[in-house]
Amino acid sequence: MDGREHYTFILISALLPLFGVAAAVVLLWNRLVGPADLIVFGIMYVIAGLGVSTGYHRLLAHRAFKTTRPLRIFFASAGAVAGQGPPVIWVAHHRRHHRVADKPGDPHSPYSDEEPGIKGALKGLWHAHMGWLFDRGLSSDPMRYCPDILRDKDMRFISKYFVWFVAGGVVLPGLLGLALTGTLFGAMTGALWGGFVRFFVANHITYAVNSIGHYFGRRRFATPDESRNVGWLALFSFGEAWHNNHHAFPRSASHGMRWYELDISALVIRSLEKLGLATNVIRIDRERQDQKAIAWEKLGGGRHARSNPDKPLALRSRTSAVGIVDVE
Ligand SMILES: [Zn+2]
Ligand SMILES: [Zn+2]
Repeated sequence: MDGREHYTFILISALLPLFGVAAAVVLLWNRLVGPADLIVFGIMYVIAGLGVSTGYHRLLAHRAFKTTRPLRIFFASAGAVAGQGPPVIWVAHHRRHHRVADKPGDPHSPYSDEEPGIKGALKGLWHAHMGWLFDRGLSSDPMRYCPDILRDKDMRFISKYFVWFVAGGVVLPGLLGLALTGTLFGAMTGALWGGFVRFFVANHITYAVNSIGHYFGRRRFATPDESRNVGWLALFSFGEAWHNNHHAFPRSASHGMRWYELDISALVIRSLEKLGLATNVIRIDRERQDQKAIAWEKLGGGRHARSNPDKPLALRSRTSAVGIVDVE
Protein backbone atom coordinates (compact mmCIF):
# COMPACT_ATOMS: atom_id res chain seq x y z
CA MET A 1 0.00 0.00 0.00
CA ASP A 2 1.63 3.28 -1.09
CA GLY A 3 1.02 6.74 0.33
CA ARG A 4 -1.84 7.59 -2.06
CA GLU A 5 -3.68 4.33 -1.50
CA HIS A 6 -3.23 4.86 2.21
CA TYR A 7 -4.74 8.33 1.97
CA THR A 8 -7.77 6.99 0.08
CA PHE A 9 -8.10 4.26 2.67
CA ILE A 10 -7.97 6.80 5.51
CA LEU A 11 -10.73 8.85 3.86
CA ILE A 12 -12.94 5.79 3.44
CA SER A 13 -12.17 4.47 6.89
CA ALA A 14 -12.97 7.84 8.44
CA LEU A 15 -16.33 8.13 6.69
CA LEU A 16 -17.68 4.55 6.64
CA PRO A 17 -17.77 4.12 10.45
CA LEU A 18 -19.78 7.37 10.63
CA PHE A 19 -22.44 5.90 8.34
CA GLY A 20 -22.27 2.70 10.36
CA VAL A 21 -22.86 4.56 13.61
CA ALA A 22 -25.72 6.51 12.02
CA ALA A 23 -27.29 3.22 10.88
CA ALA A 24 -26.74 1.69 14.31
CA VAL A 25 -28.37 4.67 16.03
CA VAL A 26 -31.42 4.33 13.76
CA LEU A 27 -31.61 0.60 14.55
CA LEU A 28 -31.14 1.27 18.25
CA TRP A 29 -33.95 3.80 18.07
CA ASN A 30 -36.16 1.06 16.70
CA ARG A 31 -34.90 -1.35 19.38
CA LEU A 32 -33.14 -3.51 16.86
CA VAL A 33 -29.94 -3.96 18.82
CA GLY A 34 -29.91 -7.30 20.52
CA PRO A 35 -27.67 -8.81 23.17
CA ALA A 36 -25.91 -10.77 20.40
CA ASP A 37 -24.85 -7.48 18.74
CA LEU A 38 -23.38 -6.20 21.98
CA ILE A 39 -21.50 -9.46 22.57
CA VAL A 40 -20.08 -9.32 19.04
CA PHE A 41 -19.17 -5.66 19.56
CA GLY A 42 -17.36 -6.56 22.81
CA ILE A 43 -15.42 -9.45 21.27
CA MET A 44 -14.30 -7.37 18.28
CA TYR A 45 -13.46 -4.39 20.50
CA VAL A 46 -11.13 -6.54 22.59
CA ILE A 47 -9.47 -8.13 19.52
CA ALA A 48 -8.85 -4.78 17.81
CA GLY A 49 -7.94 -2.98 21.03
CA LEU A 50 -5.35 -5.54 22.07
CA GLY A 51 -4.14 -5.72 18.47
CA VAL A 52 -3.29 -2.01 18.54
CA SER A 53 -2.15 -1.76 22.15
CA THR A 54 -0.29 -5.03 22.79
CA GLY A 55 0.51 -5.76 19.14
CA TYR A 56 1.19 -2.67 17.04
CA HIS A 57 2.26 -0.44 19.92
CA ARG A 58 4.13 -2.43 22.57
CA LEU A 59 5.33 -5.44 20.54
CA LEU A 60 6.08 -3.88 17.14
CA ALA A 61 6.74 -0.16 17.72
CA HIS A 62 8.59 -0.40 21.07
CA ARG A 63 9.77 -4.02 21.23
CA ALA A 64 8.63 -4.13 24.86
CA PHE A 65 8.59 -7.93 24.76
CA LYS A 66 9.28 -10.84 22.44
CA THR A 67 6.87 -13.58 21.57
CA THR A 68 6.48 -16.58 19.31
CA ARG A 69 6.01 -16.13 15.57
CA PRO A 70 2.35 -17.30 15.56
CA LEU A 71 1.50 -14.86 18.36
CA ARG A 72 3.37 -12.02 16.66
CA ILE A 73 1.35 -12.71 13.51
CA PHE A 74 -1.85 -12.92 15.58
CA PHE A 75 -1.25 -9.59 17.36
CA ALA A 76 -0.25 -7.77 14.17
CA SER A 77 -3.28 -9.20 12.33
CA ALA A 78 -5.56 -8.11 15.19
CA GLY A 79 -3.97 -4.65 14.96
CA ALA A 80 -4.69 -4.54 11.22
CA VAL A 81 -8.33 -5.47 11.93
CA ALA A 82 -8.57 -2.20 13.91
CA GLY A 83 -8.24 -0.36 10.60
CA GLN A 84 -5.69 2.28 11.67
CA GLY A 85 -3.25 1.50 8.89
CA PRO A 86 -0.76 -1.22 7.90
CA PRO A 87 1.88 -2.07 10.53
CA VAL A 88 4.78 -0.53 8.55
CA ILE A 89 3.00 2.83 8.28
CA TRP A 90 1.59 2.81 11.84
CA VAL A 91 4.94 1.97 13.43
CA ALA A 92 6.82 4.53 11.31
CA HIS A 93 4.45 7.37 12.30
CA HIS A 94 4.49 6.28 15.92
CA ARG A 95 8.26 6.09 16.32
CA ARG A 96 8.54 9.48 14.69
CA HIS A 97 5.98 10.81 17.22
CA HIS A 98 8.24 9.67 20.07
CA ARG A 99 11.41 11.08 18.54
CA VAL A 100 10.06 14.62 18.23
CA ALA A 101 6.97 14.54 20.45
CA ASP A 102 5.25 17.95 20.59
CA LYS A 103 8.01 19.52 18.53
CA PRO A 104 8.20 20.33 14.80
CA GLY A 105 7.98 17.10 12.82
CA ASP A 106 5.63 15.31 15.25
CA PRO A 107 2.87 13.79 13.05
CA HIS A 108 0.14 14.37 15.65
CA SER A 109 0.96 16.94 18.31
CA PRO A 110 -1.87 19.15 19.60
CA TYR A 111 0.74 21.93 19.73
CA SER A 112 1.59 21.87 16.03
CA ASP A 113 -0.17 25.18 15.53
CA GLU A 114 0.94 28.00 17.77
CA GLU A 115 -2.18 30.08 17.27
CA PRO A 116 -3.11 31.51 20.68
CA GLY A 117 -6.38 31.17 22.55
CA ILE A 118 -9.19 28.68 22.55
CA LYS A 119 -9.40 28.57 18.73
CA GLY A 120 -5.77 27.53 18.47
CA ALA A 121 -6.23 24.95 21.23
CA LEU A 122 -9.24 23.40 19.50
CA LYS A 123 -7.43 23.39 16.15
CA GLY A 124 -4.46 21.66 17.76
CA LEU A 125 -6.62 19.08 19.53
CA TRP A 126 -8.48 18.27 16.30
CA HIS A 127 -5.19 17.91 14.43
CA ALA A 128 -3.82 15.50 17.08
CA HIS A 129 -7.08 13.57 17.25
CA MET A 130 -7.85 12.97 13.60
CA GLY A 131 -6.91 15.95 11.44
CA TRP A 132 -3.35 14.67 10.93
CA LEU A 133 -4.72 11.60 9.10
CA PHE A 134 -5.98 13.87 6.32
CA ASP A 135 -2.59 15.51 5.74
CA ARG A 136 -1.70 14.34 2.24
CA GLY A 137 1.87 15.55 2.59
CA LEU A 138 2.59 13.51 5.71
CA SER A 139 4.69 10.43 5.30
CA SER A 140 7.11 8.81 7.71
CA ASP A 141 9.65 6.80 5.75
CA PRO A 142 9.52 3.17 6.97
CA MET A 143 13.11 2.67 5.74
CA ARG A 144 14.19 5.31 8.22
CA TYR A 145 11.88 4.61 11.14
CA CYS A 146 11.18 0.89 11.08
CA PRO A 147 13.61 -1.12 8.94
CA ASP A 148 13.09 -3.99 11.41
CA ILE A 149 9.39 -4.19 10.50
CA LEU A 150 10.23 -3.99 6.79
CA ARG A 151 12.67 -6.87 7.14
CA ASP A 152 9.98 -9.05 8.75
CA LYS A 153 8.23 -10.90 5.93
CA ASP A 154 5.12 -11.58 8.02
CA MET A 155 4.74 -7.85 8.69
CA ARG A 156 5.29 -7.09 5.00
CA PHE A 157 2.53 -9.58 4.13
CA ILE A 158 0.07 -8.07 6.62
CA SER A 159 0.95 -4.57 5.39
CA LYS A 160 0.48 -5.54 1.74
CA TYR A 161 -2.90 -7.21 2.29
CA PHE A 162 -3.96 -4.82 5.01
CA VAL A 163 -7.29 -3.93 3.37
CA TRP A 164 -8.30 -7.61 3.47
CA PHE A 165 -7.68 -7.70 7.21
CA VAL A 166 -9.91 -4.65 7.61
CA ALA A 167 -12.59 -6.37 5.50
CA GLY A 168 -12.16 -9.40 7.76
CA GLY A 169 -12.94 -7.06 10.65
CA VAL A 170 -16.44 -6.70 9.18
CA VAL A 171 -16.93 -10.28 7.91
CA LEU A 172 -15.86 -11.92 11.19
CA PRO A 173 -18.43 -10.13 13.40
CA GLY A 174 -21.00 -10.91 10.71
CA LEU A 175 -20.19 -14.61 11.06
CA LEU A 176 -20.25 -14.30 14.84
CA GLY A 177 -23.67 -12.65 14.60
CA LEU A 178 -24.84 -15.51 12.37
CA ALA A 179 -23.51 -18.12 14.80
CA LEU A 180 -25.16 -16.44 17.79
CA THR A 181 -28.56 -15.74 16.27
CA GLY A 182 -28.81 -18.20 13.39
CA THR A 183 -30.36 -15.52 11.22
CA LEU A 184 -29.12 -13.50 8.28
CA PHE A 185 -30.41 -10.35 9.95
CA GLY A 186 -28.28 -11.21 13.00
CA ALA A 187 -25.29 -11.52 10.68
CA MET A 188 -25.97 -8.07 9.26
CA THR A 189 -26.40 -6.32 12.59
CA GLY A 190 -23.36 -8.23 13.92
CA ALA A 191 -21.27 -6.84 11.05
CA LEU A 192 -22.65 -3.37 11.73
CA TRP A 193 -21.95 -3.37 15.47
CA GLY A 194 -18.81 -5.51 15.55
CA GLY A 195 -17.48 -3.91 12.36
CA PHE A 196 -18.42 -0.29 11.69
CA VAL A 197 -19.54 0.88 15.12
CA ARG A 198 -16.52 -0.84 16.65
CA PHE A 199 -14.14 0.87 14.13
CA PHE A 200 -15.63 4.17 15.19
CA VAL A 201 -15.49 3.67 18.96
CA ALA A 202 -12.13 1.86 19.17
CA ASN A 203 -10.35 4.25 16.83
CA HIS A 204 -11.60 7.35 18.63
CA ILE A 205 -10.24 5.92 21.88
CA THR A 206 -6.81 5.55 20.22
CA TYR A 207 -7.08 9.06 18.76
CA ALA A 208 -8.03 10.41 22.21
CA VAL A 209 -4.73 9.10 23.63
CA ASN A 210 -2.94 11.24 21.02
CA SER A 211 -5.06 14.36 21.58
CA ILE A 212 -6.24 14.35 25.22
CA GLY A 213 -3.16 12.37 26.32
CA HIS A 214 -0.94 15.28 25.31
CA TYR A 215 -3.17 17.98 26.72
CA PHE A 216 -5.27 17.19 29.80
CA GLY A 217 -4.20 15.11 32.76
CA ARG A 218 -1.39 14.63 35.24
CA ARG A 219 2.31 14.31 34.68
CA ARG A 220 4.46 12.17 36.94
CA PHE A 221 7.68 12.21 34.98
CA ALA A 222 9.92 14.76 33.36
CA THR A 223 9.63 14.18 29.64
CA PRO A 224 10.57 16.59 26.86
CA ASP A 225 6.95 16.64 25.68
CA GLU A 226 3.46 17.32 27.03
CA SER A 227 2.35 13.71 27.54
CA ARG A 228 -0.12 13.15 30.38
CA ASN A 229 -1.73 10.34 32.34
CA VAL A 230 -5.48 10.21 31.76
CA GLY A 231 -6.97 7.79 34.29
CA TRP A 232 -10.55 7.70 32.98
CA LEU A 233 -9.31 6.62 29.55
CA ALA A 234 -7.20 3.73 30.90
CA LEU A 235 -9.80 0.94 30.89
CA PHE A 236 -11.07 1.34 27.33
CA SER A 237 -7.61 2.10 25.89
CA PHE A 238 -6.21 -1.10 27.46
CA GLY A 239 -3.75 0.93 29.53
CA GLU A 240 -2.51 3.21 26.75
CA ALA A 241 -3.80 6.30 28.53
CA TRP A 242 -0.94 6.25 31.10
CA HIS A 243 0.72 8.25 28.39
CA ASN A 244 3.13 10.33 30.49
CA ASN A 245 4.46 7.10 32.00
CA HIS A 246 4.79 5.74 28.47
CA HIS A 247 6.70 8.74 27.10
CA ALA A 248 8.99 8.63 30.14
CA PHE A 249 9.78 4.94 29.58
CA PRO A 250 8.69 4.09 26.01
CA ARG A 251 10.09 0.58 26.05
CA SER A 252 8.34 -0.47 29.24
CA ALA A 253 5.87 -3.32 28.64
CA SER A 254 3.70 -1.83 31.36
CA HIS A 255 2.32 1.70 30.98
CA GLY A 256 0.52 1.60 34.31
CA MET A 257 3.29 2.02 36.89
CA ARG A 258 1.40 1.77 40.17
CA TRP A 259 -0.85 -1.04 41.37
CA TYR A 260 -3.91 1.17 40.91
CA GLU A 261 -3.04 2.15 37.33
CA LEU A 262 -5.15 -0.33 35.38
CA ASP A 263 -3.32 -1.61 32.31
CA ILE A 264 -5.02 -4.57 30.63
CA SER A 265 -2.38 -4.81 27.93
CA ALA A 266 0.33 -5.21 30.57
CA LEU A 267 -1.76 -7.93 32.25
CA VAL A 268 -1.95 -9.77 28.92
CA ILE A 269 1.82 -9.54 28.45
CA ARG A 270 2.44 -10.73 32.01
CA SER A 271 0.07 -13.68 31.51
CA LEU A 272 1.83 -14.62 28.28
CA GLU A 273 5.15 -14.44 30.13
CA LYS A 274 3.84 -16.80 32.83
CA LEU A 275 2.76 -19.22 30.10
CA GLY A 276 6.24 -19.02 28.58
CA LEU A 277 4.90 -17.26 25.48
CA ALA A 278 6.50 -13.86 26.12
CA THR A 279 10.16 -13.26 26.87
CA ASN A 280 12.48 -10.24 27.23
CA VAL A 281 9.66 -8.29 28.88
CA ILE A 282 11.00 -4.80 29.58
CA ARG A 283 10.46 -3.60 33.14
CA ILE A 284 11.46 -0.31 34.75
CA ASP A 285 12.43 -0.61 38.40
CA ARG A 286 11.06 1.80 40.97
CA GLU A 287 14.43 3.48 41.52
CA ARG A 288 14.65 4.56 37.87
CA GLN A 289 11.07 5.76 38.00
CA ASP A 290 11.72 7.81 41.13
CA GLN A 291 14.77 9.48 39.60
CA LYS A 292 12.68 10.72 36.70
CA ALA A 293 9.85 11.79 38.97
CA ILE A 294 12.32 13.84 41.05
CA ALA A 295 13.61 15.52 37.87
CA TRP A 296 10.05 16.63 37.19
CA GLU A 297 9.63 18.01 40.73
CA LYS A 298 12.82 20.03 40.20
CA LEU A 299 11.34 21.58 37.05
CA GLY A 300 8.42 22.82 39.13
CA GLY A 301 6.11 19.95 38.29
CA GLY A 302 4.84 17.19 40.50
CA ARG A 303 1.46 16.26 41.84
CA HIS A 304 0.30 19.82 42.23
CA ALA A 305 1.42 21.13 38.86
CA ARG A 306 -1.35 22.54 36.71
CA SER A 307 -2.63 19.94 34.31
CA ASN A 308 -2.99 22.39 31.47
CA PRO A 309 -0.28 25.07 31.54
CA ASP A 310 -0.63 28.35 29.58
CA LYS A 311 2.59 27.71 27.78
CA PRO A 312 3.32 24.07 27.04
CA LEU A 313 6.68 22.80 28.17
CA ALA A 314 7.46 21.74 24.61
CA LEU A 315 7.08 25.32 23.38
CA ARG A 316 8.93 26.89 26.29
CA SER A 317 12.09 25.25 25.12
CA ARG A 318 12.67 23.96 21.63
CA THR A 319 15.74 22.13 22.79
CA SER A 320 14.92 19.77 25.55
CA ALA A 321 16.40 20.39 28.97
CA VAL A 322 14.97 17.17 30.25
CA GLY A 323 17.00 14.61 28.43
CA ILE A 324 16.91 12.22 25.56
CA VAL A 325 14.30 9.47 25.60
CA ASP A 326 15.20 5.97 24.56
CA VAL A 327 12.38 5.26 22.11
CA GLU A 328 12.77 1.76 20.79
ZN1 LIG B 1 2.37 10.53 22.68
ZN1 LIG C 1 4.53 4.70 21.98
